Amino acid sequence: MQRSGKGKTPRRPGQRKQCNIEKDPVGVYCRIRPLGTEDEECCIEMISSSTIQLHAPDGLKANRNGEYKETQYSFKKVFGVNTTQIELFEDVGKLLIEDLIQCKNGLLFTYGVTGSGKTYTMTGSPGEGGLLPRSLDMLFNSIGPFQTKRFVFKPDDKNGMEIQSQVDALLERQKRDSQQSVSKIPSSRQKADPEIADMISSDDACKVENVDEDSCYSVFVSYIEIYNNYIYDLLEDAPFDPIRPKPPQSKILREDQNHNMYVAGCTEIEVKSTEEAFEVFWKGQKKRRIANTQLNRESSRSHSVFTLKLVQAPLDADGDHILQDKNQVNVSQLCLVDLAGSERTNRTRAEGSRLREAGNINQSLMTLRTCMEVLRENQMCGTNKMVPYRDSKVTHLFKNYFDGEGKVRMVVCVNPKADDYEETIQVMRFAEMTQEVEVPRPVDRPICGVAAGRRHRNQAFRDELSRQLEERGGPFNAGNAVRDPAQLNHLIESLPAIPPCELVDPADDQMLPRLIEVLQRRHHTRQMIIEEFNKTANTVNSMLQQFDSQLSSKGNFLHDQQSKLSEKDKVIVSQKTEIERLEKKSKTLEYKIDILQKTTDMYEQDKRTLQHELETRDHRLHRELSDRRRIEQHMQGMVTDTRLKWEKECERRVNAKQLEMQNKLWVKDEKLKQLKAIVTESSPAQRPERPTRERDGNIAQKRSASPSPLPTAPAVHPIHRRSHSAGGEKWVDHKPSSNLDVDTVMQPIIPNAIKVSTPNEKALSKCHKYVLRHQELASDGEIETKLIKGNVFKTRGGGQAVQFTDIETLRQECPTAPSRKRRSGSAERPAQLEETENTAPVTSTGSSYFYQKRRKP
Ligand code: ADP
Ligand code: MG
Repeated sequence: MQRSGKGKTPRRPGQRKQCNIEKDPVGVYCRIRPLGTEDEECCIEMISSSTIQLHAPDGLKANRNGEYKETQYSFKKVFGVNTTQIELFEDVGKLLIEDLIQCKNGLLFTYGVTGSGKTYTMTGSPGEGGLLPRSLDMLFNSIGPFQTKRFVFKPDDKNGMEIQSQVDALLERQKRDSQQSVSKIPSSRQKADPEIADMISSDDACKVENVDEDSCYSVFVSYIEIYNNYIYDLLEDAPFDPIRPKPPQSKILREDQNHNMYVAGCTEIEVKSTEEAFEVFWKGQKKRRIANTQLNRESSRSHSVFTLKLVQAPLDADGDHILQDKNQVNVSQLCLVDLAGSERTNRTRAEGSRLREAGNINQSLMTLRTCMEVLRENQMCGTNKMVPYRDSKVTHLFKNYFDGEGKVRMVVCVNPKADDYEETIQVMRFAEMTQEVEVPRPVDRPICGVAAGRRHRNQAFRDELSRQLEERGGPFNAGNAVRDPAQLNHLIESLPAIPPCELVDPADDQMLPRLIEVLQRRHHTRQMIIEEFNKTANTVNSMLQQFDSQLSSKGNFLHDQQSKLSEKDKVIVSQKTEIERLEKKSKTLEYKIDILQKTTDMYEQDKRTLQHELETRDHRLHRELSDRRRIEQHMQGMVTDTRLKWEKECERRVNAKQLEMQNKLWVKDEKLKQLKAIVTESSPAQRPERPTRERDGNIAQKRSASPSPLPTAPAVHPIHRRSHSAGGEKWVDHKPSSNLDVDTVMQPIIPNAIKVSTPNEKALSKCHKYVLRHQELASDGEIETKLIKGNVFKTRGGGQAVQFTDIETLRQECPTAPSRKRRSGSAERPAQLEETENTAPVTSTGSSYFYQKRRKP
């Protein structure tokens, strides 16, 4: 806990994460309670001051075939059955109270199954006060003389403390006193409730020695119960209706500005003594019992949290009054938690809603267990898993402690009886795991008052003054410098009484001297008193002078302070004007911001509209783009189609042209050959007369290209035909090897034909009919087969000649071919042929060629 602003609980040390934080493991202690009866079977043995050994009860061992072994568990310290409450307190509680006074927080809880001694350890029994009453006692023993009057500190309902002026505190005290005149708070042990009177014995009073005397202290207590994950305020002063008792209202948890968890609206009672504090606790305890009975709850299933809040603030420079500075107020707290029994639900044999509730309670202990597991895992593996504090009220309320807000200690209570063995094992496992959890060590913060030792110095000054007065003027009370009335009375009483002074006898000569003597003695005493008085007056005078000088020095000091104050005032005034200026400026700026905000809104609106428009256009553009793309694709497809088609067409035309040219070439070749033959045949020496008709080009006759043609042999009559009776018509079927096989159904089948790929004399001599299968490419790209037929006859020179008589054309047509083709193929091409040649090509066996006017088939 550290000094913090505005009397709040301090901020959790979140920033400390990075640096090397010192950590302490959770302090886990174990307390073994005595067995209920001597003859009960015991299953726990304490083997050292820090180790216990569990052994399975005989029955269980026998049942489970030795499955249960002896197990040992170690703790910070083990308290055996004979440990007294004070011994336990000295080890467990004392340090927490010391810490509390040193402004550090603490959390102490008892854990164990029902009946294991948790409440005994925490609260105790008459004559055997537990940790709670002892903690209270030690706290009040330590701060007792330095406590403030009531209502100087006041809870601000936000987990912080406010500081009240003396007057406000006084007024509130008077108001409270008038209200509570009936139920006065007991101020001594005798007046306390007989039930609790014995809880705190003054014999073993503990005390913290080094309490800062220059601070003022005040203690506030609160007491809550968590049942079924609901928080109830046990100190709430709700009007009680015995006829229709209202169920208690549950409270909620809040986080204060320093991220510490607290119960919102929880009653915090200021207490000034152990008895008063314990009385408050006892009242809450009674209320708890009544509520449990009325609402039929099982008390062992609830957690109770008693919180001791210590508020401290330094004294002012004079050491007489509390410093009225909220920022100097420190709050530290110690939570004493008596947890619900940790046993599993089935053990309590609860049913229905009780069972559900029990489940919830178990759930909160389960959550506590899970939190410990996660914390341990995070620490051991360096992970940063989220600790599920929020899963239950108990863990949520104490989450700050595990994050380094204070020391955490746990007393694990165990009952060594055999019945509890299995539950005890669970408790031990939890305790063992908890011990491995490390909690960041709370930081040490020295309390920085104005100047140390003010209270002490003031007392020393008073003592010294009284001593000096005594030395100088006898028995003076240093406090008021007035003569001790008893001594004065004694002096007056010691005056001799005045004897009767009535002269009745003229001869009486004794009375007058006696009277004179008495008067003289009285005069002497009077002188003495006068002297004393003068002395005193002088002393008082000198004292007054001293005081005067002190006062004047104080006055000077005050003057100084006042001038400082006025300076400060000036600074404050200037700062106030500055603040006003800044406020004005901030207002102007706010106005500007407002305007800007509006402008922004307008622009924002514009932007939205434009954006919308943009989106629409974008959309349209997109659509158009996709349309265009589609068309483009379509066009491309068409282009490719057309290109392919034209490519094919071109190819086809080129082929046709090639064939045509070849034909032409061939014809020219033939003509040349013929010419050559004519030239050779009719050389002027050997053949002077040459038939004219050979030259006219109508009928060509060629001599066989035999090696030795007869130069004198006359031309055979071309019309001559062989006798048909000699064995029917025999054909030479000339199929050039360049011909392609076409897939037509109609093929000329000529019986008795001699099939040749080149015509030869031998074949021709045997036949009298000749047919040439001539293929050419028609204009539509299809192959056209022409069957050029002719008659074979013998030439006069002994060779064979063929006269062409007929042409048959075979054509194959594709049914899907466009009509255009037919047009160009059937009309144009033949016409061209006719024009250019006007003849049909003929072939012969090599002896002669004939040209004949072509007959159209
Ligand atoms: P819990 O709160 O765990 O349910 P209690 O504290 O109520 O258990 O203890 C049950 C009984 O055992 C009480 O009567 C109590 O007085 C007694 N007891 C517990 N621990 C001790 C102890 N160390 N010495 C003597 N009696 C004890
Ligand atoms: Mg209990």
